[in-house]
Amino acid sequence: MAFDIEMIKKVYENMAERVDKARDLVGRPLTLSEKILYSHLWEGVPSQAFARGKDYVDFAPDRVACQDATAQMALLQFMHAGKNKVAVPTTVHCDHLIQAKIDAKTDLKRAKEQSNEVFDFLSSVSDKYGIGFWKPGAGIIHQVVLENYAFPGGMMIGTDSHTVNAGGLGMLAIGVGGADAVDVMSGMAWELKFPKLIGVKLTGKLSGWTAPKDVILKVAGILTVKGGTGAVIEYFGEGAKAMSCTGKGTICNMGAEVGATTSTFGYDESMDRYLRATNRADVADAAAAVADYLTADAEVYANPEQYFDEVIEINLSELEPHLNGPFTPDLATPISKMREEAEKNDWPLQVQVGLIGSCTNSSYEDISRSASLAKQVAEKKLKTKAKFTITPGSEVVRYTIERDGFIDTFDKIGATVFANACGPCIGMWDREGAEKEERNTIVHSFNRNFSKRADGNPNTLAFVGSPELVTALAIAGDLGFNPLTDKLINEDGEEVMLDEPTGNELPPKGFDAEDPGYQAPSEDGSGVEVIVSPTSERLELLAPFKPWNGENITGAKLLIKAFGKCTTDHISMAGPWLRFRGHLDNISNNMLIGAVNAFNMKTNSVKNELTGEYDAVPAVQRAYKAADVPTVVVGDHNYGEGSSREHAAMEPRHLGVRAVLVKSFARIHETNLKKQGMLALTFANEADYDKIQEGDTFNFTDLKEFAPNKQLTLEVVHKDGSKDVIMANHSYNEGQIGWFVAGSALNLIAAASNA
Ligand code: SF4
Repeated sequence: MAFDIEMIKKVYENMAERVDKARDLVGRPLTLSEKILYSHLWEGVPSQAFARGKDYVDFAPDRVACQDATAQMALLQFMHAGKNKVAVPTTVHCDHLIQAKIDAKTDLKRAKEQSNEVFDFLSSVSDKYGIGFWKPGAGIIHQVVLENYAFPGGMMIGTDSHTVNAGGLGMLAIGVGGADAVDVMSGMAWELKFPKLIGVKLTGKLSGWTAPKDVILKVAGILTVKGGTGAVIEYFGEGAKAMSCTGKGTICNMGAEVGATTSTFGYDESMDRYLRATNRADVADAAAAVADYLTADAEVYANPEQYFDEVIEINLSELEPHLNGPFTPDLATPISKMREEAEKNDWPLQVQVGLIGSCTNSSYEDISRSASLAKQVAEKKLKTKAKFTITPGSEVVRYTIERDGFIDTFDKIGATVFANACGPCIGMWDREGAEKEERNTIVHSFNRNFSKRADGNPNTLAFVGSPELVTALAIAGDLGFNPLTDKLINEDGEEVMLDEPTGNELPPKGFDAEDPGYQAPSEDGSGVEVIVSPTSERLELLAPFKPWNGENITGAKLLIKAFGKCTTDHISMAGPWLRFRGHLDNISNNMLIGAVNAFNMKTNSVKNELTGEYDAVPAVQRAYKAADVPTVVVGDHNYGEGSSREHAAMEPRHLGVRAVLVKSFARIHETNLKKQGMLALTFANEADYDKIQEGDTFNFTDLKEFAPNKQLTLEVVHKDGSKDVIMANHSYNEGQIGWFVAGSALNLIAAASNA
């Protein structure tokens, strides 16, 4: 499906040369992660090795993937880059906006009616700019990427945290914010802190009830939700080699749950088999020709402690199936201990619903093994006690499992097949009765299980397990059921045990689909019109931000002095606001509504100095904007921590805030502010935060001399007429000052494109 074999061959050519150079530079054998990182440097191998966990490095990813929710603002911005086509192969996937309620067909039809304008926009903008478009119903971004685009040794970014799934095919695939995707699509470098490395050695072999999912559930229990932060997890060992490629994908997928930058596996025969089964024999051949570069040097895996920052060893032969939860994916319980734990913690034992599938676990192997259990329901005269749902990861998977009779098998246990989309995994599940908020237990094979994540009910306890275990627990209807040891009573009153699951790694008759749901872009998109209704509430074409007028900013009013924590959620709230993420003006009505005003300790209540009245932050800012009064936001430590959401920088810029002055920034938000042409400044003397008073006016006195490593001077005029002069630090380099001058980074790219 339009994967670019020539591009992949080029990556491999560069790889050999760069890896050899990097090995000389570092002076020791290299891990796979280092090989991929060094071979994707923006400017080639440098003269000095990078410090892991310290140095910020520019990379050149091979691909970009965007899901429909995050793609909207990213593509609206990209339209300003002045490019005819995206600079690297890019795809858009419509998966997050489809609510699961009745069944695939009905739900998909309803989603198309409800989100038609978003899908039309994404389809037309993709067509115009050379982006592969996967229609609603085609599948979930990460499964589609694994089936079509991931390749061993590649580097990709995606605007979704589970982009890491592609590590199953030996990539370094990393989840990013929309702003980063825009950079790469526009032909700019992409910056990442050179990651630390965690090695996971898998010995033994999976068998019986234990599945790849149990490996990551165990790892999550060891590392906890923060243990992988800033690190790449590299899996190796005989156990890794013996595992299917899609199983590896599951493990990498949930690396996001331990905060890892990404996870990966070395190239092996399972990847070769999967590439060939998904019609990519040419990629498999190209990879086989450079196989040594697509795994770590032998010495690394022989003595991992010398080369990784941390090493974990798991014996797959001894690994038990696990259930993780509730409310957090790192609370790992082996199935043999579940009844005891549930009773101790008063978790409801009755399983109401078992849900399999999602981007994490809907491979042919997963489904065939689960179906082998569903088949036993009739054979052993059992009844399935809980409801059961299947969310296929792609149309290719759905079509193939239907052709091979598995959907029929699931039908017989009363299962519902939802659309090939995120659905219940992202709260897009209109679950009957959820509004009653009753305490209940569900089990699923997804990746996240935070409160409200599946059905919006804060009292739903969700446990994450392998699809096999989820199926067994749904049949038993009992959270404490251990299929390895426990018996069930059948219709004849006899005690029966479920046989171990069995299945096929890949479909014996091959994958197939009548219509995989792909739309190729136009060769020449110049005549394609991007479809955005001028009356849309959800989408709005962006106007370029105005360049700096070259003058000092004077008479700027203080909009808010934020007290304490001010995350990207405080600056641009999620929840119902996500509906407007493609409409900058509408979503700007949430700007800073979660920030605490240091003068009255209230949220969303600041003084409008033009009227003397207190009002909502966005309303006050709009009043200043209408009166052409610039404003400044003041904040505390680590301002903008949380997500990389670019709206948190775009909204203040759109509404006329000129500078954000804080004690310290979360780095990604600071960069996002710079990209949008804002002044992101820090107090040279932190104590000056206390000098800022309600009603203050700011005058920049030396902005005309804005230069790297040079402080800026601000005169702060208080309401009583007294003044303080404070110094502000900044971290702009020459190029970033260029963004400020041009009005935004994209304006600068557009100027270069048009030159
Ligand atoms: Fe994210 Fe779930 Fe969709 Fe996967 S299925 S992309 S984890 S929302």
